[in-house]
Amino acid sequence: MTASNPDGTQDFGVYVHIPFCATRCDYCDFATWTDRQHLQDSYVDACVTDLRRRVEEGLVPLASSVFFGGGTPSLLPPEQLMTILGEIPRTSTAEVTVECNPDSIDRSGLDIYRAHGVNRLSFGVQSFDEQVLAGLGRTHNPANVERVVADARLAGFDNFNLDLIYGTPGESVDQWLATVNSAIALNPPHLSMYALTVEPGTPMGANVRAGALAPDDDDQATKYELADELLTKAKMPWYEISNWAQVGYECRHNLLHWATGDYLAIGCAAHGHRARSRYWNLRTPERYIAAIAAQESPEAGSEVLDLNAQREEEFVLALRTSTGVSARKVDPEVISACVDAGLIDHIASTDRLVLTRRGRLLATEVTVRLLAGNNAGPRYDGVLTAMGKDRPSV
Ligand code: SF4
Repeated sequence: MTASNPDGTQDFGVYVHIPFCATRCDYCDFATWTDRQHLQDSYVDACVTDLRRRVEEGLVPLASSVFFGGGTPSLLPPEQLMTILGEIPRTSTAEVTVECNPDSIDRSGLDIYRAHGVNRLSFGVQSFDEQVLAGLGRTHNPANVERVVADARLAGFDNFNLDLIYGTPGESVDQWLATVNSAIALNPPHLSMYALTVEPGTPMGANVRAGALAPDDDDQATKYELADELLTKAKMPWYEISNWAQVGYECRHNLLHWATGDYLAIGCAAHGHRARSRYWNLRTPERYIAAIAAQESPEAGSEVLDLNAQREEEFVLALRTSTGVSARKVDPEVISACVDAGLIDHIASTDRLVLTRRGRLLATEVTVRLLAGNNAGPRYDGVLTAMGKDRPSV
């Protein structure tokens, strides 16, 4: 996997964080607020100013992908969100994604997105079962998902993602299968599915500490395997542990992340990557707005990766994808042991190692074993911690 194009140019992404939600879901610990709507105008102005400055400084190559995440980007008036997009220099074929809550976007808003160059939508669905949605503290009506998908197609979007969550306590296997089948019935080009995780500091975390049921590992493993079977039959193969797509609809922005490409962070709490360093912006919208107004950098911190750490990050992220990693980098005895245990396939034609379905369920353990037998030597603690962070937002 690579972020380089055949013509030698490098892919480049822009991530814009929109930190506003109508209500907070019980499981969510993202940087988003439900009582800051009065900051929306000044926040959008700050994002626009931040972008203009960086473009003037020559720090923003043409973007091959733009991703508006959150929070709930679709909570902003569409014209206002599009003023930010208008400041982002991008290629004529750039993938431009907006995360949407099915409750907060309608046909006219989708038309505005489309007219301004948005060509991919990502809908936070999580479940088609009202009881499960209530267990997650979600407010949308599952019927709205069908409505919004139909509206998206009418507005000209052929590329969209549905986010699902599996393993909510109380969700039966049948309820989960019904959700996956409902999603497949909408013929989505892309699906992301995440195991519910209980984060400390969330209402769900407090409930579990008080004795409420927590997600069960075995239940989540069963649901992952069943869903993977259904999606494979529906011609949506996995291309990353938590992502499935029809061929040609893999998310370019995600692929850029997994190829450790460069992306710019705009907005509070946004994370970016340039050359060999990761950086992150101030966490709250107030502090981000204040920093931009004071003509200061909104960056709160950064971490420079040495060459070994960078190689290891590339290895870990690539192993999560269906492209896998080169077998030449791993001790043959470790490969044999993992193949015998049914954790990886060694693809002879490409000499690459790819996680099996069982290996995907045990990805962290497999990664540790392969890295221990990796010629570069194990230095993977930070990377493995980062691996746990891909969860759905909107
Ligand atoms: S899960 Fe999404 S919609 Fe729910 S509070 Fe978090 S960011 Fe907002």
